[in-house]
Amino acid sequence: MANQRDYYEVLGVGRNSSGEEIKKAYRKLAIQFHPDKNPGDKKAEENFKELSHAYEVLSDPQKRQMYDQFGHAAAGAGPGGPGGGFDFQGFGGGASINDIFGDIFGDIFGAQAGGRARGGRRRTTGRPGEDLKTSVDITFEEAAFGAEKVITIPKTIHCDTCAGGGAKPGTQPENCAQCGGRGEVSFQQGFFAITRPCPRCNGAGQTISSPCVNCGGSGTSKKRSQIAVKIPAGIDTGQRLKLTGEGEAGERGGPPGDLYVAVNILPHDFFTRDEFDVICEVPVTFIHAALGAEIEVPTLEGKVKLKIPAGTQSHKILRLKGKGLARLGAYGRGDQLVRIIVEIPTKLTQEQRDLLKKFSEIGADAAHPMHQSFFEKVKNLFG
Ligand SMILES: [Zn+2]
Ligand SMILES: [Zn+2]
Repeated sequence: MANQRDYYEVLGVGRNSSGEEIKKAYRKLAIQFHPDKNPGDKKAEENFKELSHAYEVLSDPQKRQMYDQFGHAAAGAGPGGPGGGFDFQGFGGGASINDIFGDIFGDIFGAQAGGRARGGRRRTTGRPGEDLKTSVDITFEEAAFGAEKVITIPKTIHCDTCAGGGAKPGTQPENCAQCGGRGEVSFQQGFFAITRPCPRCNGAGQTISSPCVNCGGSGTSKKRSQIAVKIPAGIDTGQRLKLTGEGEAGERGGPPGDLYVAVNILPHDFFTRDEFDVICEVPVTFIHAALGAEIEVPTLEGKVKLKIPAGTQSHKILRLKGKGLARLGAYGRGDQLVRIIVEIPTKLTQEQRDLLKKFSEIGADAAHPMHQSFFEKVKNLFG
């Protein structure tokens, strides 16, 4: 353990880097050192293992906090060590690419893989952090293709001075004198042994005799934090993303809460949506509708040419295949539905008026079969 490299160094990230930055660094290096890419290369295999260990710890806010506070010693410490220590599983057994996407998609599809390590550990750690809720505005295009947004929210973070431990730098929290570090006390009442959270340490198992001056011993401070949020393509207004562990930091080693981000799509000049189809209304002149024409219509990826057949009625829908939004959670894209709106002219010159009158006199009724048949039926009914 003595010559183990610092985990932040292994991942090539700073000590204050966000969960998202750690993920990015890990993905990049994991691809570089992956055994499949370096067959027979012992050094690459070692690098890959080291990387996996580092990521397992730093991607888990609770383990990371322990590591920040106790270094590699936290890994070797048995159950009697600080906070119970944490075990390394074989690489690949812990955080994986699935977890990375699970965080993002879990809430939408209810396919929650891990859940959080609250509850069970509560007895031996401090108070868990609160969940946070916020919202993010995105453009129609960002909803269609996905995006990475950075949101700024005030939240409780681990205190820099004491690395979240609450103890003055250079001192350590001591095992609680009342419960001996167990975080709970038992007493006999009749036949029953009753177990309660320890009143002296509030269940933390440890007490701090010289609290950190910066945070007063809570191990946390408030800060406007920037968090990168990956918006999956195809998301819709009202859907929520869950970022596990990005809520408020827990007190004195307690697990962090989660962050819920509600998505709001801003109105677009041309487009609305129906599920994964883009709907776009395009006004055309009654002349183009009658004679047929090629027009340009806006799509998510710029203008495309669209043929309007001769005799197109108003509100007719023409379909542009595969020009819609990405189908969230499935393959492919929706379509773009172009709704043709035939515009009747409203500002006619005298000459235009005369031409239309002339058109009417030379048999306009026969050119309008719907109109003609309707009034014939009315005539037959009423005589
Ligand atoms: Zn502090
Ligand atoms: Zn206690």
